Amino acid sequence: MPGSLKTEAIVLRGIRYGEADRILHLYTPDRGRVSAIAKGVRRAKSRFGGRLEPFFRLNLVLYQGKSDLLTVTSAETIAGHPRLREHGAAIDGAARACDAVSRLFGDGEPHAGVYHLLANQLALIDREPAQATRANALAFRLKLLLAAGFLPELSECARCGRPPGGGSVRFSSAAGGVICGECGAGDGFSLDEPARSFMATALSAPLKDGPEAPRPALSQVERAVSGTLEYHAHVRLRSVA
Ligand SMILES: [Zn+2]
Repeated sequence: MPGSLKTEAIVLRGIRYGEADRILHLYTPDRGRVSAIAKGVRRAKSRFGGRLEPFFRLNLVLYQGKSDLLTVTSAETIAGHPRLREHGAAIDGAARACDAVSRLFGDGEPHAGVYHLLANQLALIDREPAQATRANALAFRLKLLLAAGFLPELSECARCGRPPGGGSVRFSSAAGGVICGECGAGDGFSLDEPARSFMATALSAPLKDGPEAPRPALSQVERAVSGTLEYHAHVRLRSVA
């Protein structure tokens, strides 16, 4: 039904279109990912100024006509995240976060929790660009797995349900988490205690208090996260290294 829609949104991505327009991929709390065209936005005197750029959090009015593509009719900045844009690692962290949300949550899948998680992540690395570390990117992905319902089992064997024992366990994306020595022979890969404990802490702590871990542990965490995403969501994300 044609009409106007008011919503908050985060700009995930912008694609040049025609002479002066841009197609935006937006993430909204109530409608999930939507696409909208911003007409004339690339002209020097555009009334949108520089607001419709990736990582902006905005209050938007969108016009919905007959097509799926909405039209931006007004935009007001909630957070432009200017500091984030001055640091290469922070820009990269923000881009990876937006890309992960875009690929994991398709059109028409509203998820207010994911919206707020992304807003928190962008605010965090804008406030402290040095927080855009590999550990932070992995903590964010783990929280996305949780939101998407693909959280791996970490505290008991995903096959038999018994405690997997201390020290090194194995991790199997197919089984859906850690597996004990008896169930795990020949399956998955070795997940050492620092990696398992990083995952557990990252899931329970706010992003700003996320854990750190030595490089080899982070590599194991990334392997577990990537394997889970590929196996269960059929999504392959760029490495956070
Ligand atoms: Zn077992």
